[in-house]
Amino acid sequence: MAWLPSILIRPQSGALIVLGTSALGGAAYRFLSTPDDSESSSLNPHTFVPYTLISKQQISPTSSIFTLRNREGSSNSQALKDIWKQSVWSVQLKQPQLQIARAYTPLPPPVGAPEDEHGEAQELRLLVRKEEGGEVSTYIHKLPEQSTIELRGPNVECEVPHNVREVLFLAGGTGIAPAMQVAHALNGRPGARMHILWANRRREDCVGGRNDSLQTPVSGRRWGWRSMLGLGEPVPAENTAPPAEKQGIIVKELEALKHQSQAHNQGLSVEYFVDDEKSFIEPANVARHLKISTQKDATPPKRSKVILVSGPDGFIEYWAGRKVWVAGREAQGPLGGILSQMDLRGWQVYKL
Ligand SMILES: Cc1cc2nc3c(=O)[nH]c(=O)nc-3n(C[C@H](O)[C@H](O)[C@H](O)COP(=O)(O)OP(=O)(O)OC[C@H]3O[C@@H](n4cnc5c(N)ncnc54)[C@H](O)[C@@H]3O)c2cc1C
Repeated sequence: MAWLPSILIRPQSGALIVLGTSALGGAAYRFLSTPDDSESSSLNPHTFVPYTLISKQQISPTSSIFTLRNREGSSNSQALKDIWKQSVWSVQLKQPQLQIARAYTPLPPPVGAPEDEHGEAQELRLLVRKEEGGEVSTYIHKLPEQSTIELRGPNVECEVPHNVREVLFLAGGTGIAPAMQVAHALNGRPGARMHILWANRRREDCVGGRNDSLQTPVSGRRWGWRSMLGLGEPVPAENTAPPAEKQGIIVKELEALKHQSQAHNQGLSVEYFVDDEKSFIEPANVARHLKISTQKDATPPKRSKVILVSGPDGFIEYWAGRKVWVAGREAQGPLGGILSQMDLRGWQVYKL
């Protein structure tokens, strides 16, 4: 997810980027066609509709989860349910005084949350990091509960087609939100595997997060020449997580997603990295995962394997190269960064 600022308010083109072919086009079409009056109070890509800020949960000094409910109680539809099942998607949130909007990625409903008649929770939850001097993120952080917030969407950022059975997700900061969407989408796909490498600046954003993997790097350097080439072997981890099991909200929800994935014969695992603890995602972590994945597949896999990269611009650029603008739209651009120097046979890379 390139954290590109400033979307001036204009009619949405509703871009749909697809990693492969699937039936999501149908769901997207239902959203993209102009809503009639009865639908105009539901989330749609053409008009901003009012939501009420039900609650604000601070998860660290810089980030909070905002829970929003559609004023008419109709935020979800069958089409939205389809989108939840197979895509990474965002909504635009309007700052009314400045008439600007920014994109945010709804968190999946917490495991076990009450569901509406379409099988999805009725509320939308946004994990928003307060950017210093940021117009929209500061605006929402200042709003009291019960305020009105206007949303437009959904915008499908990328699709996770049905043949995708393995995902390696490199997430920086709030890039964990799309990672959780993918974990939610893979839920129920028998045999699907997902591994998340999640980097944060500070532990406060991932309190209580413990690595599933036995080994992680403890090097104070972000990369060395061996790791640049994917040659460095990770060394046994020091236990960087706090000893008592106080867990932050996002960590708890990742744990719940893990349990849910085990119940469906899948594997979801998470490794945590914290800049302040001198623990950084290194090429060796990626190389190791690719190696383990190959070992698990006794025969060459028929299923598709995808590496997704999401986070601040610098994070995406470092791992996969810059995204580019083509004809007024953001496009993938060539694969660059560290991943371009690694042996990725069998894996597709997608920058969010
Ligand atoms: C598809 C997508 C999904 C996203 N999902 C999420 C999400 O789930 N959670 C999340 O927190 N974010 C998400 N983002 C990022 C989000 O859209 C915003 O970019 C982010 O919240 C910052 O917006 P802002 O209006 O607060 O900051 P802006 O006003 O855009 O400012 C951004 C930064 O630039 C600086 N700046 C602004 N103007 C200037 C200037 N003239 N000179 C120098 N510096 C300047 C500001 O101080 C600030 O640090 C997503 C982005 C995309 C594209």
